[in-house]
Amino acid sequence: MGRRGWLGVAAALVLSAGPASAAELPIVDAHLHYSADAWDMLPPEEAIRILRAAGVKRALVSSSSDDGTQKLHAAAPDLIVPELRPYRRRGEISTWMHDPSIVPHLEDRLARFRYVGIGEFHVYGADADLPVVRRMVELARQHGLFLHAHSDAAAVERLFRQDPQARILWAHSGFDSPANVRRMLERHPNLWCDLAFRSDHARSGAVDPEWRALFEAFPDRFMVGTDTFAPERWHYVARHAAWSREWLAGLPPELAERIAWRNADALFGAFPTGRGQ
Ligand SMILES: [Zn+2]
Repeated sequence: MGRRGWLGVAAALVLSAGPASAAELPIVDAHLHYSADAWDMLPPEEAIRILRAAGVKRALVSSSSDDGTQKLHAAAPDLIVPELRPYRRRGEISTWMHDPSIVPHLEDRLARFRYVGIGEFHVYGADADLPVVRRMVELARQHGLFLHAHSDAAAVERLFRQDPQARILWAHSGFDSPANVRRMLERHPNLWCDLAFRSDHARSGAVDPEWRALFEAFPDRFMVGTDTFAPERWHYVARHAAWSREWLAGLPPELAERIAWRNADALFGAFPTGRGQ
């Protein structure tokens, strides 16, 4: 689809979700990417407009390459919370952990820009102990950053073994079952979970009972996210926010607020830009 057509669709979706009103639950979107193939189709100002229209008050963004994150951050420093993706381009998802040139790339970006976390990165099982991954964990520790891991439970365990003080945001809650997510949260007080790109926790606007029990047992650990892994996914930012408000409305208001934005806000902290600095 040409740029104009695509933007037309995006605008229609924003309108169909309705403009965010002051009464609406704010959302912190904890899983966004603004990667190179989105830049022409959706200029930074348009992406920011989509986020604001959706009532997103802060957005955790990582991109392939990181230039995408910096473009968005420059356009809206009050809204965009940057995290550093190890990837310089698409296609490094399954190779980066074997590529020593990732390390100087991370060091260079960390020296030049401010971030709240390193990720989202993809690593599974024993690969989490490869030297490039170990060095990344070390860099996160040195810079006081959390890790945003798209990983299975085995890799998360290995990351915590490398740095027991690490803070880990588990992307997609590992696409794991509520029972396994519970087991991990019980074991690791520094583990948070995003619910990006999964819908099993809420069907037809109602929270699944097993997930509900998990949210109630761990009210401080969950957050929502759209996951714009492809440019077209930016269509869903407004819809995702509206859908999140719908199922969160079935929870006690205080718990809904925590999952909608307070937990993410607490994990990201008072990121300097847009916070009086
Ligand atoms: Zn992602």
